[in-house]
Amino acid sequence: MEASQQARQIGFIGLGIMGRSMAGHLLAAGHTLHVYNRTRTKADDLVARGAHWCETPGDVAAVSDIVITMVGYPADVEQVYLGAGGLLDRARSGTMFVDMTTSSPSLAVRIAEAARVKGCASLDAPVSGGDIGARDAKLSIMVGGDQAAFDTAEPVLRHMGTSIVLQGGPGTGQHTKMCNQIVIASTIVGVTEGLAYARRAGLHPETVLKSIGGGAASGFQLNVLGPRIIQGDFAPGFFIEHFLKDLGIALGEAAQMGLELPGLSLARRLYEQMAARGLERDGTQALLKLYEA
Ligand code: NAP
Repeated sequence: MEASQQARQIGFIGLGIMGRSMAGHLLAAGHTLHVYNRTRTKADDLVARGAHWCETPGDVAAVSDIVITMVGYPADVEQVYLGAGGLLDRARSGTMFVDMTTSSPSLAVRIAEAARVKGCASLDAPVSGGDIGARDAKLSIMVGGDQAAFDTAEPVLRHMGTSIVLQGGPGTGQHTKMCNQIVIASTIVGVTEGLAYARRAGLHPETVLKSIGGGAASGFQLNVLGPRIIQGDFAPGFFIEHFLKDLGIALGEAAQMGLELPGLSLARRLYEQMAARGLERDGTQALLKLYEA
């Protein structure tokens, strides 16, 4: 670890599919880690490896130089940051906050302003790369905020990702993540339909994947989720309920800009059908189930 990072006390809140792996990389890199999660047992592995458990988000803020959050929904982000006894209530001046949850751009702007009032800095820094990217520390991290805050946080973010890009001021990280989700939405529909077609045509999907996975259609959705679809492995990965959250944010933002996105709207309708069947805790690749019904 660089000398400039040695005194860092890092807080991490949200230890689910993504956060647990990401926090683990910070511990492995030698940082002192203070952790909190709604369900305490999800911190057990990290605590066994030396992380310090805190009883509330505010307790994390009180002992940390940098606090990273990776919770589920904008409502969770709002509660953790702006709620009574939350991060900003207890933050010391000079603390840096990095929200890596996929959340709303306008909430990121509100948090940045509230942090500034407390003499703190904040970045919105959502990620792409999935459970595998988190596990392998190969995430793409899309950052919104000040250059100075970015420069301070970047060496810490390097432990979790390989592409770390400052997009602009507060909220631009979340807007960039929406661009990412818009691309993924139509892509996963295409991947699912291609594989449903392969089966119906009597082809061997694994063999089809050997061809199309090496051509112009290749990418994470086809090459990583395609094999899971073929094997009937619908475990998350990335929860359908979180994807629906993202599609709602993106469509809401687009509507405010007067931008119509019919591909995105179609993907949301299909995933709403999945949720109506009670499949919202499946991974996004489970979309195939619609085509087999
Ligand atoms: P997850 O497994 O549900 O993890 C979220 C964690 O945050 C859970 O452990 C949850 O606690 C905790 N949490 C929620 N609200 C909290 C609160 N108020 N206080 C403390 N802890 C709280 O979800 P995930 O897959 O890791 O995703 C996390 C975020 O990253 C989401 O916004 C998602 O859209 C985004 N994302 C996910 C992926 C992916 O492939 N999974 C990829 C990119 C981005 P409990 O344990 O009690 O539920």
